[in-house]
Formats: sequence, structure tokens, C-alpha cells
Amino acid sequence: SLDVAWAQAWIRSSAQVLAEHRAELNTLDREIGDGDHGENMDRGFQAVLPKLDGLADGATPGDAFKTLASTLISTVGGAAGPLYGTAYLKAATAVTGVAELDGAAVVALLTAARDGIVLRGKAESGDKTMIDAWTPAVDAAEQAHAAGADPALVLAAAADAAEAGAVSTEPLVARKGRASYLGERAIGHRDPGAQSTALILRSGADAAA
Ligand code: ADP
Ligand code: MG
Ligand code: MG
Repeated sequence: SLDVAWAQAWIRSSAQVLAEHRAELNTLDREIGDGDHGENMDRGFQAVLPKLDGLADGATPGDAFKTLASTLISTVGGAAGPLYGTAYLKAATAVTGVAELDGAAVVALLTAARDGIVLRGKAESGDKTMIDAWTPAVDAAEQAHAAGADPALVLAAAADAAEAGAVSTEPLVARKGRASYLGERAIGHRDPGAQSTALILRSGADAAA
């Protein structure tokens, strides 16, 4: 069930996967940015690990996401810190006080995260940012939930769509972030933030399976 233990498992497995893919994310960011995306994400997710153990008895998934949000905002910096920080803060707010997430709550969580990133960064679909992974993930989650999928399958649908969304950034010219300075030279390179989003959402689905 998607309770606080799931939220903790999701965050821990995100930290592990981001550490494993740190060099790959840095390489993607070296092609179209400043080469630090893997480092940034790894630093933030490692910093939250000790705090997860300190969550109070009776904590909810929202409490875990709130802890992650404040840690990312204070430790990551760059573009991704405030963007992911806002995403997890809005996600936490969307499920405040809910002990166990059902399919509708998963859709609400993902939608709030995506909307938070848009509010903060003003990117639209096709701008070659993490939004190109998040928006297909939200759409796929909605469809899976409407089709009667259980919460774990809603998350799996979101992860599949985020992976496809990350690949879909490759032919694009960037209109937001550092990559936008490159013009057509960004074509042929995957957006690092879209790739980290795909890794994180897959971790969430795996933790629920
Ligand atoms: P920085 O560019 O400050 O070094 P990172 O390398 O950690 O920060 O993160 C870069 C990622 O942030 C990009 O790959 C992109 O997905 C995302 N990004 C940058 N600007 C925006 C924005 N305005 N909206 C959404 N995502 C953005
Ligand atoms: Mg960077
Ligand atoms: Mg940077």
C-alpha cells in the first residue's frame, strides 16, 4: 500500500538510482548545460536520507515529501533544486494528512508536482525540460486511473510515459534553462532533468510494486 513506508522507500530508492546514474546525468548536462545535474541531484537526495529516519510516529507520505522538498531547496541550488523542491512541496500539500494514497491521490500528487514546476519555471510542453517527462506522466496516470488501474499500476503508467517523454526531448531545441543558449546545437541531446524525472518516477513505481 502507498503509505509512509512506501514514500520513504521511494525516496531511498531515488537516492540510490540517482547515485548510480550521477555520471550519466552529468554527461547529459555537459552536452547542453554545465555538467552538474547528476551531482546536484545526488547531493540533494543523499542529504535527505538521515532525515527520513527521524520522521515522527504517525507521519504520512506528505510529511516525507515535505522533508524532501525542504532538503532539496536548501542543498541543491541551480535550476533543479527549486524546481524539484517546489514539485515535492506541492505534492506534499496535495496529500496532506492522507495515510494511504489511492489511485486518485496518486494522480493528485503527480499533477500538483507538475503544476508546481510550471508555476516556478514557466516551461511549456516541448521546451525541452523536465516538463516533457512530467506532463506525459500526469496524462498517463490520469488515463490509467480512469481505466480502473490500482495505484501501483497508475505509478507504473506514469513511469513508462516519463521515460518516453525523456526520449522525446532529444530532437528538440530548448526554450528554457541553460540549454536554451545553445539554439540548434541542443538538437540530438536528451534533457538531463527529463531523464532524472524518468528515473525518479520509475523508483516510485518500483517501490509500490
Ligand atoms: P543548472 O542548469 O542550474 O545547472 P541543473 O543542471 O541541476 O541546473 O538542472 C537542469 C535541468 O533543469 C534541465 O535539464 C531542465 O530539465 C530543468 N530546467 C531548467 N530550467 C527549467 C524551467 N524553466 N522549467 C522546467 N525545467 C527547467
Ligand atoms: Mg546544470
Ligand atoms: Mg549548475
